[in-house]
Amino acid sequence: KEPKFEPKAGVPIDFTKIEINKLPTVIIMGRPNVGKSALFNRLIRRREALVYNTPTDHVTRDIREGVAKLGDLRFRVLDSAGLEAEASSGSVLSRTAGMTRNVLGRSQLVLFLIDGREGLQDMDLDVGRWLRKNAPGIKTLVVINKAEKLDAFSGSLAASVGEAYSLGFGDPVALSAETGFGMSELHEALKPLLEDYMLQVLTGRPNVGKSTLLNAILQEDRVLVGPEAGLTRDSIRVKFEYEGRTVYLVDTAGWLERTNQEKGPAKLSIVQSRKNLMRAHVVALVLDAEEIGKARRSLKHAEVVIARQAVEEGRGLVVIVNKMDLLRGRENKKTYESVINAVPEEIQTVIPQVTGIPVVFVSALEGKGRIAAMRQIVDTYEKWCSRLSTARLNRWLRKVVSRHSWKDQAAQPKIKYFTQVKARPPTFVAFVSGKNRLSDTDIRFLTKSLKEDFDLGGIPVRILQRCLL
Ligand code: GDP
Ligand code: GDP
Repeated sequence: KEPKFEPKAGVPIDFTKIEINKLPTVIIMGRPNVGKSALFNRLIRRREALVYNTPTDHVTRDIREGVAKLGDLRFRVLDSAGLEAEASSGSVLSRTAGMTRNVLGRSQLVLFLIDGREGLQDMDLDVGRWLRKNAPGIKTLVVINKAEKLDAFSGSLAASVGEAYSLGFGDPVALSAETGFGMSELHEALKPLLEDYMLQVLTGRPNVGKSTLLNAILQEDRVLVGPEAGLTRDSIRVKFEYEGRTVYLVDTAGWLERTNQEKGPAKLSIVQSRKNLMRAHVVALVLDAEEIGKARRSLKHAEVVIARQAVEEGRGLVVIVNKMDLLRGRENKKTYESVINAVPEEIQTVIPQVTGIPVVFVSALEGKGRIAAMRQIVDTYEKWCSRLSTARLNRWLRKVVSRHSWKDQAAQPKIKYFTQVKARPPTFVAFVSGKNRLSDTDIRFLTKSLKEDFDLGGIPVRILQRCLL
C-alpha cells in the first residue's frame, strides 16, 4: 500500500504572488543510481523541466531545473544527475567539480541522496567529503532513498538511519522516490529549512491597544487607531523584516465578545481571526493593565479561551500587558505591583501544562517595552522551531532516566530510544519496549526535564509514546 502524501493545512503566504526567481533553490546530489532523477521527477510531477546543456570536457552535461511542489512548499529544484553521468568509480564529481560548485553556489540547500537498499558505499563518503569541503554553510539534508521496503520493526530502517547519521549531516529522512513513501517526512524536514518567516498574531479584546502596539512595533502610522471598540474590524496584515527574518504580523479584531451577536461581514472577520490565530507561529495576547488593576482577576473569560486555544493548537504564546503607563505614580504603586505579580501567576494557573509562558509589560502609547516584546516573540518562535538531534536526545535520556525514581522498579518502562519527529512545535516520540508503558506522570516528568535541559520553557512540547514489539 502506498501511503498517500497529504499536504498540511494552509500557510499564510499566497505563492502566486511570489516571483519564481525568489523561490529558494534545492539541489539533489549523490553518487550515480541513488535515484536523483526519480526524486526530481516526483518533486516536479508533470510540470516542465528546463534543461541546460553545459559543455565541459568536450562532453555535454545536462542540469535539469524545475519548480517543486511539496504540500504547501514551493522551491526550485536542480537535478545534478547529468553532472556525473560519466563519472567512473572513485572519481565521482571530479571532472565536473568546477561546474557543480557553480550550481551549488546558487543553492540554499542540498538534498544528499543515498541508497537505503545498498547501504553506504565508499562513493557516498566521497560525496559527503566533497560537500563538506565545497559547500560549507549550505544546509544539507541526507535522504535515504529506496526505503519503501525498510522495516521499522526488523531494525533495517534504524540501521539505515544510523548509517546515514554517521555522514555527519544530522538527522536523515527516509523515503521512496518511486512510491512516494516518506514524502510528508521530507516536507516536514524541509519546511523549517526553506521557510524563514514568522507569522505572528496580535490578539486580544477590543481596545486593549493592539493597533497602537502594532504601530509602535512598526514605528509608523499604518494602522488606524481610535477609541471605538471594533474599529479595526478586519484583520490587518503587515510584512516587515526583523533581525534578518521576514515577519508577517496580523492584528486581529477582538472577536470573542461579539461571536454571538454578529452576522454578516463581522462574522466573517471573526472566522478569519480565528483562522489566523490557529495558523500563527506565535500568538501575542494583549491585555489591558488598567482593566486588570480594577478587576480582581487578570484574565477575562475570552482571554483565557484564546490563551488555552493557542497552546492546545501548539502555537507559541506571549502575553503582553499594555497601558502600563496608566499605573505609574505613587498612588498606583500597589496596583502596579499586583498587576506585575498577578498576571504570570494567573497564566500559570489557567495553562498548567506549559510553564514559563513569557509575560511582557509595555506601554504601546509611549513605545516602551516594544523591543522587549519583540525579543520575547522571536525567542519563543526560535524555541518553537528547535530541532534536537537523536544522538543528543539519547545521551540526555540516559541521564534523565537515572534521575527519575520509579517507586516500583518492576513497573519501570524501558525507553529504547527517544527522537524528535517534528518541530513547530517540538514533538518527540519515546519508543518503549517490554510490557510497561509510560504513565502520565512519567510523560510529565520527561516533558519537564526536556524543557529545563534544552531551554524549551514557554512553548507547548509534546511527547508521544510508541510501543516496540
Ligand atoms: P540517479 O542516477 O541518481 O539519477 O538515479 P535514477 O533516478 O536514474 O535511479 C536509478 C535507479 O534506481 C533506477 O532504476 C530507478 O528506477 C531506481 N529507483 C529510484 N528511486 C527508487 C526508489 O525509491 N525505490 C526503488 N526500489 N528504486 C528506485
Ligand atoms: P485595539 O482595539 O486593541 O486595536 O486598541 P487600539 O490600539 O485601537 O487602542 C484603544 C485605545 O487605547 C486608544 O484610545 C489608544 O490610544 C489607547 N491605548 C493603546 N495603548 C495604550 C497605552 O499603552 N497606554 C495608554 N494610556 N493608552 C493606550
